[in-house]
Amino acid sequence: MTLDNYNFAGKKAIVRVDFNVPLDENGKITDDTRIRGALPTLKKILEDGGSLIIMSHMGKPKGKINPKFSLAQIKDDVAKALGRDVKFADDCANAGEAAANLKPGEVLLLENLRFYPEEEGKPVGIDKEDPAYDAAKKEMKERQKEFAKKLASYADAYVNDAFGTAHRKHASTAVIADYFDTDNKMLGYLMEKEVKAVDNILSDIKRPFTAIMGGSKVSTKIGIIENLMDKVDNLILCGGMTYTFAKAMGGKIGNSICEDDKLDLALDIMKKAKEKGVNLVLGSDCVAADAFSNDAHTQIVSCMDIPDGWEGLDAGPETQKAFADAIKGAKTILWNGPAGVFEFDNFTAGSRAIAEAIVEATNNGAFSLVGGGDSVACVNKFGLADEVSYVSTGGGALLEAIEGKILPGIAAIKGK
Ligand code: AMP
Repeated sequence: MTLDNYNFAGKKAIVRVDFNVPLDENGKITDDTRIRGALPTLKKILEDGGSLIIMSHMGKPKGKINPKFSLAQIKDDVAKALGRDVKFADDCANAGEAAANLKPGEVLLLENLRFYPEEEGKPVGIDKEDPAYDAAKKEMKERQKEFAKKLASYADAYVNDAFGTAHRKHASTAVIADYFDTDNKMLGYLMEKEVKAVDNILSDIKRPFTAIMGGSKVSTKIGIIENLMDKVDNLILCGGMTYTFAKAMGGKIGNSICEDDKLDLALDIMKKAKEKGVNLVLGSDCVAADAFSNDAHTQIVSCMDIPDGWEGLDAGPETQKAFADAIKGAKTILWNGPAGVFEFDNFTAGSRAIAEAIVEATNNGAFSLVGGGDSVACVNKFGLADEVSYVSTGGGALLEAIEGKILPGIAAIKGK
Protein backbone atom coordinates (compact mmCIF):
# COMPACT_ATOMS: atom_id res chain seq x y z
CA MET A 1 0.00 0.00 0.00
CA THR A 2 1.12 3.57 -0.54
CA LEU A 3 0.26 6.59 1.55
CA ASP A 4 -1.30 8.37 -1.40
CA ASN A 5 -3.64 5.47 -2.10
CA TYR A 6 -4.85 5.12 1.46
CA ASN A 7 -7.81 7.00 2.88
CA PHE A 8 -7.36 7.47 6.61
CA ALA A 9 -10.87 8.84 7.21
CA GLY A 10 -12.20 7.32 10.42
CA LYS A 11 -9.05 5.21 10.84
CA LYS A 12 -6.33 5.27 13.44
CA ALA A 13 -2.78 5.33 12.12
CA ILE A 14 0.32 4.60 14.16
CA VAL A 15 3.32 6.31 12.60
CA ARG A 16 6.96 5.62 13.43
CA VAL A 17 8.86 8.87 13.00
CA ASP A 18 12.40 9.87 13.85
CA PHE A 19 11.93 12.65 16.40
CA ASN A 20 15.35 12.04 17.85
CA VAL A 21 16.00 15.78 17.70
CA PRO A 22 18.97 17.48 19.36
CA LEU A 23 18.06 19.32 22.60
CA ASP A 24 20.00 21.96 24.54
CA GLU A 25 20.62 21.74 28.29
CA ASN A 26 17.15 23.21 28.96
CA GLY A 27 15.41 20.59 26.83
CA LYS A 28 14.78 23.03 23.98
CA ILE A 29 15.07 21.77 20.40
CA THR A 30 18.15 23.14 18.61
CA ASP A 31 17.35 21.72 15.16
CA ASP A 32 13.81 20.70 14.17
CA THR A 33 14.68 19.32 10.71
CA ARG A 34 13.43 15.86 11.67
CA ILE A 35 10.07 17.12 12.86
CA ARG A 36 9.61 19.18 9.71
CA GLY A 37 10.64 16.16 7.65
CA ALA A 38 7.75 14.06 8.97
CA LEU A 39 5.06 16.73 8.59
CA PRO A 40 3.80 15.85 5.08
CA THR A 41 2.98 12.31 6.22
CA LEU A 42 1.41 13.36 9.51
CA LYS A 43 -0.66 16.08 7.85
CA LYS A 44 -1.95 13.76 5.13
CA ILE A 45 -3.36 11.41 7.79
CA LEU A 46 -5.00 14.23 9.73
CA GLU A 47 -6.36 15.95 6.62
CA ASP A 48 -7.94 12.67 5.50
CA GLY A 49 -9.81 12.66 8.82
CA GLY A 50 -7.70 10.01 10.53
CA SER A 51 -6.48 9.92 14.12
CA LEU A 52 -2.77 9.97 14.57
CA ILE A 53 -0.59 8.06 17.01
CA ILE A 54 3.03 9.20 16.78
CA MET A 55 5.87 7.07 18.12
CA SER A 56 9.62 7.65 18.19
CA HIS A 57 12.79 7.05 20.12
CA MET A 58 15.01 9.77 21.49
CA GLY A 59 18.65 9.29 22.47
CA LYS A 60 19.94 6.15 24.06
CA PRO A 61 18.11 5.56 27.36
CA LYS A 62 19.08 1.86 27.10
CA GLY A 63 15.73 0.40 28.08
CA LYS A 64 15.25 2.56 31.17
CA ILE A 65 13.02 5.53 31.91
CA ASN A 66 15.13 8.68 31.83
CA PRO A 67 13.50 12.14 31.88
CA LYS A 68 16.45 13.53 29.94
CA PHE A 69 15.17 11.60 26.92
CA SER A 70 11.45 12.16 27.46
CA LEU A 71 9.45 13.06 24.37
CA ALA A 72 7.23 15.18 26.64
CA GLN A 73 9.90 17.84 26.09
CA ILE A 74 8.97 18.17 22.43
CA LYS A 75 5.18 17.76 22.69
CA ASP A 76 4.50 21.49 22.33
CA ASP A 77 6.84 21.79 19.36
CA VAL A 78 5.05 18.93 17.62
CA ALA A 79 1.70 20.57 18.38
CA LYS A 80 2.93 23.86 16.93
CA ALA A 81 4.30 22.17 13.81
CA LEU A 82 1.00 20.33 13.25
CA GLY A 83 -1.13 23.32 14.21
CA ARG A 84 -3.24 21.29 16.62
CA ASP A 85 -3.30 19.96 20.17
CA VAL A 86 -1.24 16.90 20.96
CA LYS A 87 -2.11 14.51 23.78
CA PHE A 88 0.72 12.66 25.48
CA ALA A 89 0.88 9.02 26.63
CA ASP A 90 3.60 8.78 29.25
CA ASP A 91 3.82 4.99 28.92
CA CYS A 92 4.01 3.84 25.32
CA ALA A 93 3.20 0.23 26.23
CA ASN A 94 0.01 1.18 28.10
CA ALA A 95 -1.60 3.67 25.80
CA GLY A 96 -4.50 1.51 24.59
CA GLU A 97 -7.20 3.58 26.25
CA ALA A 98 -5.76 6.91 25.14
CA ALA A 99 -5.50 5.57 21.58
CA ALA A 100 -9.04 4.15 21.65
CA ASN A 101 -10.41 7.53 22.78
CA LEU A 102 -8.86 9.45 19.88
CA LYS A 103 -11.34 11.15 17.59
CA PRO A 104 -10.69 11.91 13.91
CA GLY A 105 -8.11 14.68 13.60
CA GLU A 106 -6.73 14.11 17.10
CA VAL A 107 -3.10 13.38 17.85
CA LEU A 108 -1.45 11.23 20.52
CA LEU A 109 2.32 11.28 21.04
CA LEU A 110 3.74 8.21 22.77
CA GLU A 111 6.61 8.41 25.26
CA ASN A 112 10.09 7.30 24.12
CA LEU A 113 9.94 3.73 22.81
CA ARG A 114 13.45 3.02 24.03
CA PHE A 115 12.37 3.37 27.66
CA TYR A 116 11.50 -0.28 27.05
CA PRO A 117 14.37 -2.70 26.23
CA GLU A 118 11.86 -4.59 24.07
CA GLU A 119 12.03 -1.81 21.47
CA GLU A 120 15.61 -2.64 20.50
CA GLY A 121 15.16 -6.28 21.49
CA LYS A 122 18.62 -6.67 22.99
CA PRO A 123 18.97 -8.40 26.36
CA VAL A 124 20.10 -6.00 29.08
CA GLY A 125 22.60 -6.56 31.85
CA ILE A 126 24.11 -9.68 30.33
CA ASP A 127 27.40 -9.98 28.52
CA LYS A 128 27.60 -11.49 25.03
CA GLU A 129 30.21 -13.93 26.33
CA ASP A 130 27.89 -15.19 29.08
CA PRO A 131 26.68 -18.77 28.40
CA ALA A 132 23.15 -17.65 29.26
CA TYR A 133 23.23 -14.90 26.60
CA ASP A 134 21.58 -16.87 23.81
CA ALA A 135 18.65 -17.87 26.01
CA ALA A 136 18.29 -14.27 27.23
CA LYS A 137 18.31 -13.07 23.64
CA LYS A 138 15.64 -15.54 22.65
CA GLU A 139 13.47 -14.51 25.55
CA MET A 140 13.92 -10.83 24.66
CA LYS A 141 12.92 -11.49 21.06
CA GLU A 142 9.66 -13.00 22.36
CA ARG A 143 9.11 -9.96 24.56
CA GLN A 144 9.86 -7.74 21.57
CA LYS A 145 7.07 -9.44 19.61
CA GLU A 146 4.61 -8.87 22.46
CA PHE A 147 5.65 -5.22 22.69
CA ALA A 148 5.26 -4.73 18.93
CA LYS A 149 1.86 -6.46 19.03
CA LYS A 150 0.75 -4.08 21.78
CA LEU A 151 1.77 -1.02 19.77
CA ALA A 152 0.04 -2.47 16.72
CA SER A 153 -3.18 -2.97 18.70
CA TYR A 154 -3.60 0.83 19.00
CA ALA A 155 -4.22 1.37 15.29
CA ASP A 156 -5.79 0.22 12.01
CA ALA A 157 -2.78 1.17 9.88
CA TYR A 158 0.98 1.37 10.31
CA VAL A 159 3.20 3.92 8.59
CA ASN A 160 6.97 3.94 8.83
CA ASP A 161 8.50 7.35 8.10
CA ALA A 162 11.69 6.95 10.14
CA PHE A 163 14.45 6.44 7.60
CA GLY A 164 17.13 7.16 10.22
CA THR A 165 16.27 3.89 12.00
CA ALA A 166 15.24 1.83 8.97
CA HIS A 167 18.44 -0.23 9.22
CA ARG A 168 17.37 -1.49 12.65
CA LYS A 169 15.06 -4.42 13.23
CA HIS A 170 13.34 -2.86 16.21
CA ALA A 171 9.81 -3.41 17.51
CA SER A 172 8.47 -0.14 16.10
CA THR A 173 10.51 -0.10 12.89
CA ALA A 174 10.04 -3.64 11.63
CA VAL A 175 8.49 -6.23 13.98
CA ILE A 176 5.24 -4.27 14.32
CA ALA A 177 4.63 -4.59 10.56
CA ASP A 178 3.91 -8.32 11.06
CA TYR A 179 0.68 -7.37 12.80
CA PHE A 180 -0.76 -5.47 9.83
CA ASP A 181 -1.77 -6.94 6.50
CA THR A 182 -0.22 -5.57 3.30
CA ASP A 183 -3.15 -3.24 2.65
CA ASN A 184 -2.71 -1.49 5.98
CA LYS A 185 1.02 -0.82 6.16
CA MET A 186 3.03 1.62 4.12
CA LEU A 187 6.07 3.86 3.95
CA GLY A 188 5.71 7.55 4.78
CA TYR A 189 6.52 10.30 2.28
CA LEU A 190 9.95 11.00 3.76
CA MET A 191 10.85 7.35 3.58
CA GLU A 192 9.62 7.17 -0.03
CA LYS A 193 11.82 10.14 -0.92
CA GLU A 194 14.85 8.56 0.75
CA VAL A 195 14.32 5.27 -1.04
CA LYS A 196 14.06 7.11 -4.35
CA ALA A 197 17.26 9.06 -3.69
CA VAL A 198 19.18 5.86 -2.94
CA ASP A 199 17.69 4.33 -6.07
CA ASN A 200 18.98 7.26 -8.08
CA ILE A 201 22.48 6.51 -6.82
CA LEU A 202 22.31 2.75 -7.26
CA SER A 203 20.43 2.22 -10.49
CA ASP A 204 20.94 4.00 -13.76
CA ILE A 205 24.11 5.75 -12.59
CA LYS A 206 24.99 8.76 -14.73
CA ARG A 207 28.77 8.90 -15.12
CA PRO A 208 31.18 9.97 -13.96
CA PHE A 209 30.15 8.96 -10.42
CA THR A 210 32.19 10.57 -7.64
CA ALA A 211 31.84 9.44 -4.03
CA ILE A 212 33.37 11.43 -1.19
CA MET A 213 33.88 9.58 2.05
CA GLY A 214 35.23 11.51 5.00
CA GLY A 215 34.91 11.58 8.75
CA SER A 216 37.24 10.39 11.42
CA LYS A 217 37.87 6.71 10.72
CA VAL A 218 38.29 4.29 7.88
CA SER A 219 37.07 1.37 10.02
CA THR A 220 33.49 2.64 10.26
CA LYS A 221 33.29 3.29 6.50
CA ILE A 222 35.02 0.20 5.17
CA GLY A 223 31.83 -1.62 4.15
CA ILE A 224 30.63 1.24 2.02
CA ILE A 225 34.09 2.02 0.61
CA GLU A 226 34.50 -1.56 -0.59
CA ASN A 227 31.03 -1.59 -2.04
CA LEU A 228 31.46 1.74 -3.81
CA MET A 229 34.64 0.53 -5.41
CA ASP A 230 32.52 -1.48 -7.85
CA LYS A 231 30.38 1.49 -8.76
CA VAL A 232 32.32 4.75 -8.77
CA ASP A 233 34.71 6.39 -11.20
CA ASN A 234 36.27 8.69 -8.59
CA LEU A 235 36.58 7.92 -4.90
CA ILE A 236 37.70 10.73 -2.63
CA LEU A 237 38.78 9.59 0.83
CA CYS A 238 39.28 12.50 3.19
CA GLY A 239 39.06 13.66 6.80
CA GLY A 240 40.81 11.77 9.56
CA MET A 241 41.31 8.62 7.49
CA THR A 242 43.78 10.55 5.29
CA TYR A 243 46.47 9.96 7.89
CA THR A 244 45.95 6.23 8.16
CA PHE A 245 46.62 6.10 4.40
CA ALA A 246 49.60 8.48 4.67
CA LYS A 247 51.17 6.38 7.42
CA ALA A 248 50.49 3.17 5.51
CA MET A 249 52.43 4.64 2.60
CA GLY A 250 55.36 5.36 4.89
CA GLY A 251 54.50 8.98 5.67
CA LYS A 252 55.24 10.89 8.88
CA ILE A 253 51.95 12.03 10.35
CA GLY A 254 52.87 13.69 13.67
CA ASN A 255 49.93 13.59 16.09
CA SER A 256 47.29 13.12 13.40
CA ILE A 257 44.45 10.74 14.07
CA CYS A 258 45.36 7.26 12.83
CA GLU A 259 44.10 3.70 13.09
CA ASP A 260 47.34 1.75 13.38
CA ASP A 261 45.55 -1.57 12.99
CA LYS A 262 44.09 -0.47 9.65
CA LEU A 263 47.32 0.27 7.77
CA ASP A 264 47.11 -2.96 5.77
CA LEU A 265 43.48 -2.27 5.05
CA ALA A 266 44.43 1.14 3.66
CA LEU A 267 47.02 -0.42 1.35
CA ASP A 268 44.47 -3.02 0.30
CA ILE A 269 41.95 -0.29 -0.60
CA MET A 270 44.60 1.43 -2.72
CA LYS A 271 45.41 -1.83 -4.48
CA LYS A 272 41.76 -2.62 -5.15
CA ALA A 273 41.13 0.86 -6.53
CA LYS A 274 43.97 0.34 -8.98
CA GLU A 275 42.71 -3.09 -10.01
CA LYS A 276 39.21 -1.79 -10.59
CA GLY A 277 40.31 1.34 -12.41
CA VAL A 278 38.87 3.65 -9.77
CA ASN A 279 40.51 7.05 -9.51
CA LEU A 280 41.30 7.18 -5.79
CA VAL A 281 41.86 10.75 -4.62
CA LEU A 282 43.65 11.14 -1.30
CA GLY A 283 44.80 14.32 0.42
CA SER A 284 48.29 15.47 -0.60
CA ASP A 285 48.61 18.53 1.63
CA CYS A 286 46.85 19.41 4.87
CA VAL A 287 46.27 22.18 7.36
CA ALA A 288 48.34 21.02 10.32
CA ALA A 289 47.66 22.41 13.79
CA ASP A 290 49.80 22.42 16.92
CA ALA A 291 46.77 21.53 19.07
CA PHE A 292 43.27 20.09 18.61
CA SER A 293 41.72 23.52 18.93
CA ASN A 294 40.13 26.17 16.75
CA ASP A 295 42.76 28.65 17.98
CA ALA A 296 45.79 26.45 17.32
CA HIS A 297 48.67 27.72 15.19
CA THR A 298 48.52 26.27 11.68
CA GLN A 299 50.76 25.56 8.72
CA ILE A 300 50.21 23.90 5.34
CA VAL A 301 52.35 20.78 5.04
CA SER A 302 52.48 17.57 3.03
CA CYS A 303 50.26 14.81 4.48
CA MET A 304 53.34 12.60 4.22
CA ASP A 305 55.54 14.90 6.29
CA ILE A 306 53.74 16.37 9.26
CA PRO A 307 56.13 17.73 11.91
CA ASP A 308 56.22 16.13 15.36
CA GLY A 309 53.70 17.73 17.69
CA TRP A 310 51.43 18.79 14.79
CA GLU A 311 48.28 17.12 13.47
CA GLY A 312 46.35 17.36 10.22
CA LEU A 313 42.92 18.85 10.87
CA ASP A 314 41.81 19.88 7.40
CA ALA A 315 42.55 19.42 3.71
CA GLY A 316 45.18 21.82 2.29
CA PRO A 317 44.71 24.06 -0.79
CA GLU A 318 46.27 21.64 -3.29
CA THR A 319 44.04 18.84 -1.97
CA GLN A 320 40.96 21.04 -2.07
CA LYS A 321 41.62 21.69 -5.75
CA ALA A 322 42.10 18.00 -6.51
CA PHE A 323 38.86 17.16 -4.70
CA ALA A 324 36.96 19.90 -6.50
CA ASP A 325 38.29 18.73 -9.87
CA ALA A 326 37.04 15.18 -9.24
CA ILE A 327 33.65 16.52 -8.19
CA LYS A 328 32.95 19.24 -10.73
CA GLY A 329 32.87 16.97 -13.77
CA ALA A 330 30.70 14.34 -12.08
CA LYS A 331 27.10 13.52 -12.98
CA THR A 332 26.37 11.47 -9.84
CA ILE A 333 27.74 12.49 -6.45
CA LEU A 334 27.53 10.96 -2.99
CA TRP A 335 29.02 12.75 0.03
CA ASN A 336 29.32 11.27 3.48
CA GLY A 337 31.69 12.65 6.11
CA PRO A 338 33.61 15.93 6.41
CA ALA A 339 37.12 16.62 5.07
CA GLY A 340 38.29 18.13 8.33
CA VAL A 341 37.28 19.09 11.84
CA PHE A 342 34.55 21.31 10.43
CA GLU A 343 33.14 21.96 13.91
CA PHE A 344 36.09 24.38 14.33
CA ASP A 345 35.51 27.41 12.09
CA ASN A 346 39.18 27.59 11.15
CA PHE A 347 39.16 24.05 9.75
CA THR A 348 36.15 24.14 7.45
CA ALA A 349 37.88 25.04 4.16
CA GLY A 350 38.24 21.45 2.92
CA SER A 351 34.61 20.58 3.58
CA ARG A 352 33.52 23.90 2.14
CA ALA A 353 35.49 23.28 -1.06
CA ILE A 354 33.74 19.93 -1.41
CA ALA A 355 30.29 21.41 -0.75
CA GLU A 356 30.85 24.24 -3.23
CA ALA A 357 32.10 21.89 -5.94
CA ILE A 358 29.02 19.69 -5.37
CA VAL A 359 26.76 22.70 -5.78
CA GLU A 360 28.54 23.65 -9.01
CA ALA A 361 28.19 20.11 -10.39
CA THR A 362 24.52 20.04 -9.34
CA ASN A 363 23.91 23.30 -11.19
CA ASN A 364 25.45 21.59 -14.22
CA GLY A 365 22.97 18.75 -14.05
CA ALA A 366 24.51 16.24 -11.61
CA PHE A 367 22.42 14.32 -9.08
CA SER A 368 24.00 14.94 -5.66
CA LEU A 369 23.13 13.12 -2.46
CA VAL A 370 24.51 14.33 0.86
CA GLY A 371 23.91 12.11 3.86
CA GLY A 372 25.12 11.38 7.36
CA GLY A 373 24.83 13.76 10.28
CA ASP A 374 28.16 15.52 9.84
CA SER A 375 28.00 16.20 6.11
CA VAL A 376 24.45 17.42 6.54
CA ALA A 377 25.66 19.70 9.35
CA CYS A 378 28.33 20.95 6.92
CA VAL A 379 25.94 21.89 4.11
CA ASN A 380 23.66 23.51 6.70
CA LYS A 381 26.59 25.45 8.18
CA PHE A 382 27.56 26.69 4.71
CA GLY A 383 23.94 27.52 3.81
CA LEU A 384 24.10 25.17 0.83
CA ALA A 385 21.55 22.51 1.81
CA ASP A 386 19.00 23.78 -0.72
CA GLU A 387 21.54 23.71 -3.52
CA VAL A 388 22.27 19.99 -3.63
CA SER A 389 19.82 17.47 -5.11
CA TYR A 390 18.97 15.62 -1.92
CA VAL A 391 19.94 15.82 1.75
CA SER A 392 19.29 12.50 3.46
CA THR A 393 18.10 12.23 7.05
CA GLY A 394 19.82 8.86 7.38
CA GLY A 395 23.38 8.24 8.48
CA GLY A 396 23.85 4.52 9.11
CA ALA A 397 20.63 3.69 7.24
CA LEU A 398 21.78 5.57 4.16
CA LEU A 399 25.17 3.89 4.11
CA GLU A 400 23.67 0.43 4.55
CA ALA A 401 21.16 1.08 1.78
CA ILE A 402 23.94 2.19 -0.55
CA GLU A 403 25.99 -0.83 0.45
CA GLY A 404 23.13 -2.75 -1.09
CA LYS A 405 21.82 -4.15 2.20
CA ILE A 406 18.11 -4.61 2.55
CA LEU A 407 16.88 -2.35 5.32
CA PRO A 408 14.62 -4.23 7.77
CA GLY A 409 12.30 -1.22 8.11
CA ILE A 410 11.62 -1.21 4.40
CA ALA A 411 11.57 -4.99 3.94
CA ALA A 412 8.97 -5.28 6.72
CA ILE A 413 6.57 -3.23 4.62
CA LYS A 414 7.49 -3.97 1.05
CA GLY A 415 8.55 -7.60 1.48
CA LYS A 416 12.06 -8.94 0.97
P1 AMP B 1 32.50 10.20 11.50
O1 AMP B 1 31.67 10.17 12.73
O2 AMP B 1 33.46 9.06 11.37
O3 AMP B 1 31.71 10.45 10.23
O4 AMP B 1 33.46 11.44 11.66
C1 AMP B 1 33.02 12.77 11.76
C2 AMP B 1 34.03 13.52 12.57
O5 AMP B 1 35.30 13.40 11.97
C3 AMP B 1 33.75 14.99 12.69
O6 AMP B 1 33.37 15.25 14.03
C4 AMP B 1 35.09 15.64 12.36
O7 AMP B 1 35.47 16.62 13.30
C5 AMP B 1 36.06 14.47 12.45
N1 AMP B 1 37.26 14.68 11.65
C6 AMP B 1 37.35 15.00 10.35
N2 AMP B 1 38.63 15.19 10.00
C7 AMP B 1 39.38 14.99 11.09
C8 AMP B 1 40.78 15.06 11.36
N3 AMP B 1 41.64 15.37 10.41
N4 AMP B 1 41.20 14.80 12.60
C9 AMP B 1 40.31 14.49 13.57
N5 AMP B 1 38.98 14.41 13.38
C10 AMP B 1 38.51 14.66 12.16
